[in-house]
Amino acid sequence: MTDSHSRVAIVTGAARGIGAAIARKLADDGFAVGLLDLDEAGVKQGAEAIVSGGGKAIGVGLDVSNTEQAEAAVTRVAEELGAPTVLVNNAGITRDNLLFKMSDQDWDAVIGVHLRGSFVMTRAAQKHMTGQKWGRIVNLSSTSALGNRGQINYSAAKAGLQGFTKTLAIELGKFGVTANAIAPGFIETEMTAATAERLGVPFEDFKAAVAREIPVQRVGRPEDIANVVSFLVSEGAGFVSGQVVYVAGGPKA
Ligand code: NAP
Repeated sequence: MTDSHSRVAIVTGAARGIGAAIARKLADDGFAVGLLDLDEAGVKQGAEAIVSGGGKAIGVGLDVSNTEQAEAAVTRVAEELGAPTVLVNNAGITRDNLLFKMSDQDWDAVIGVHLRGSFVMTRAAQKHMTGQKWGRIVNLSSTSALGNRGQINYSAAKAGLQGFTKTLAIELGKFGVTANAIAPGFIETEMTAATAERLGVPFEDFKAAVAREIPVQRVGRPEDIANVVSFLVSEGAGFVSGQVVYVAGGPKA
């Protein structure tokens, strides 16, 4: 890392799960971190924990799919921590149903948070990266991008994020900005706990059944994703761009 650009990261959906682990990891890596989430109390708590550990962080409440809120949050991070040169678009929701039962609202909500949210956040943040001729964007896709029963909205959004990532890489590369996607497999978080609950299966049984199908014989942990983010936003990853890294304990979803 050189001193020629600021070391400030924004992580969306950072109140819990994968986003919270990414924020902690980037703080450990020496980044000042803006933790953004619908859950304002949750990100304020996460930021306080980073600060009490000697790091720099703020928590900001927002809905990433709201243009004004996204732009205001990026501006606040820039004013309080410095120009953000790293953006991790992690905020996400599921609204699962089979196609014939899926409502317009559930389609729009999922596309809105993942695709519109990543779009407005990235548009707001990119000027801070291009201005410094250095930046790193990481988008959270999913193995569901390859297709997943009951997730027509989510799989479309996660596949869409892969095209979004590749286009960012093409447009922003000449400004020293890379863009990559991480496609996690099954990670133990409240999101997957909610899936187990919806299916009426105890979470421990659900995880054990999933783990048997994964080559490394365990489910993923938020830190498994945070470690890959840490690499992709590093100085040394500057020639990696437009890629989708599947982090799923094996080669298949
Ligand atoms: P999670 O535990 O449900 O956490 C997601 C966070 O995003 C929550 O804190 C949530 O806030 C926040 N959020 C939702 N909508 C938002 C919005 N409009 N604006 C701001 N924040 C919002 O999920 P996770 O499992 O950590 O997943 C993180 C990312 O990884 C998601 O993009 C997910 O699709 C992806 N992913 C997860 C898995 C997995 O197995 N867990 C696998 C593949 C991909 P609230 O709590 O207030 O709603």
